[in-house]
Amino acid sequence: MAAEKGTIQERLDKAIRKVPDFPKPGILFYDLTGILMNPSVYQECLQALKEQVVQLNGNALAAIEARGFLFASPLASQLGLPLILVRKKGKLPGKTISQTFDLEYGTDTIEVHREDVRPEFRVVLVDDLIATGGTLKAAISLLEGAGSKVVGVVSVVGLPFLKFREKLGNLPVLTLIEYHTEKTS
Ligand code: AMP
Repeated sequence: MAAEKGTIQERLDKAIRKVPDFPKPGILFYDLTGILMNPSVYQECLQALKEQVVQLNGNALAAIEARGFLFASPLASQLGLPLILVRKKGKLPGKTISQTFDLEYGTDTIEVHREDVRPEFRVVLVDDLIATGGTLKAAISLLEGAGSKVVGVVSVVGLPFLKFREKLGNLPVLTLIEYHTEKTS
């Protein structure tokens, strides 16, 4: 790849659209579709995530529906690693195990295929964005409760002011770009 000017964070930041008050008032939404629309930024992003996965020395990936899949599946293919899909309740056809967790209002349930969670797996979880870390924490409980070990998390964006690191304890959490404010301007 030709040497690029600037940093990966600058290129990601340019590609990520910030949408105030979406999907509801008070939320600043980080829209990653601009990364997918820019092949060189998407490739650079995947390369950087790949290096993080290698650093964590996992032997399997897991990703959370739906946007996590966009980053995890090319990585799994390139690294030659199995990919466990963590899906919303009712989507997987085989025997599943599930975990219910609290949202700001109400609860949600995620599931994996029982047979996909194996004791020899050292799983790296891949996501698009970590906000509160609530969904990841539920995914970690699900995978570890079923016998795999989770060795870390990689994500394109992190919002540390929502305190995901406190929620995820000592687990290594690697992100490519972090935003430190809730508001634009
Ligand atoms: P959380 O469980 O709070 O870490 O968030 C779960 C998922 O919601 C993330 O993986 C994102 O896909 C999405 N999400 C939460 N907050 C935002 C945000 N401000 N902008 C874009 N996506 C978000």
